[in-house]
Amino acid sequence: METLDNWQWQMTNRITNISSLRDYVNISEQEAGEIAAAGTKFHWAITPYYASLMDKKDTHCPIRMQAIPSILELRNQSGLQDPLQEEQQSPTPGLIHRYPDRVALTVSSECAMYCRHCTRKRFVGQPVQRTSWQAIQLGIDYIRSTESIRDVLITGGDPFILSNDRLERILKTLRAIDHVEIIRFGTRTPCTMPQRITNQLCDMLAKYHPLWVNTHFNHPRELTEEAAQAAHRLLGAGIPLGNQSVLLRGINDDLETMKSLLHGLLKMRIRPYYLYQCDRIIGTEHFWTPLNTGLDLIDHLQGYTTGLAVPQFIVDSPLGKIPLSRAKLLELNDNHAVLRNYEGQVMTIPCGIEPESTRLAI
Ligand SMILES: *Cc1c(COP(=O)(O)O)cnc(C)c1O
Ligand code: SF4
Repeated sequence: METLDNWQWQMTNRITNISSLRDYVNISEQEAGEIAAAGTKFHWAITPYYASLMDKKDTHCPIRMQAIPSILELRNQSGLQDPLQEEQQSPTPGLIHRYPDRVALTVSSECAMYCRHCTRKRFVGQPVQRTSWQAIQLGIDYIRSTESIRDVLITGGDPFILSNDRLERILKTLRAIDHVEIIRFGTRTPCTMPQRITNQLCDMLAKYHPLWVNTHFNHPRELTEEAAQAAHRLLGAGIPLGNQSVLLRGINDDLETMKSLLHGLLKMRIRPYYLYQCDRIIGTEHFWTPLNTGLDLIDHLQGYTTGLAVPQFIVDSPLGKIPLSRAKLLELNDNHAVLRNYEGQVMTIPCGIEPESTRLAI
């Protein structure tokens, strides 16, 4: 079925060269050369759906900046391939075991669209051994023999690039392990290729509960009717939805854009989960923001808007994800705590246990 509604059609008609990109946006000759140069170093591909969200003329369009290679990717000197040291924390190829009770299992190196800010730029878009069926099975064997693992995050690349059959095989094998309590997916398809979220996929997923899905929207312009319908179908299958955004310079690093994204997500019943400081990956320096930008955003959200709309601001590291916010607890001793509210007002509350009540309790 050759229609825009069909995800296989979206995949096979992805935009991977400048002449087809020109159907969507104006590209100068100079920019064409730059895209070709940057695109040789870092893989690119854009679904017709995501390209259709681009502004034809504006080179600073937030959709364009996330999808079209930029010459700035080649000027970057200070990033690393793998600052999170995922490779060192992989007991089997493709399995990352950083926390005691949960793992990330990478099952695909492909994505619908290759984000220019991707943390896994080092392997996405290339055929790699770590996501072969054999490697996935090794990862699942490790999970089976490690009883402390109660939470498996299936990630990539993008796991929803796999066929329903392949996904079901993974889910079935994981569900046969008693100590695996929850299974989570990290997928950007609701944003970059919402056509992937078919009724058949949702019916299949619903057999393997408890399942959670985290997706990746970065800008309010991505919150389309198609995306809302994809979210609606997943929610209809009983799957709670969360969102992980990356804080990106010139894309979503201002309060107005961020608020509009977070409020829009809540309207789609997607709970903002994490807002990441952009990882220091080679080729992404032009997206980095100072730590203060994220802290300021959180300061201007918490208390000013619905608590459910406020994500945790995360700096990721080889030691795990570290949530950051400015101190609300100014002082704490055995008797009292000094606290600051969202507007900066300070108050003291008693917090110790009175000797009198301790005695009564005994
Ligand atoms: C992010 C991540 C997880 C999941 O972390 P949560 O904070 O529980 O969402 C698990 N393993 C690895 C390696 C991760 O990077
Ligand atoms: S969808 Fe995720 S893994 Fe794929 S390119 Fe984007 S950020 Fe990277």
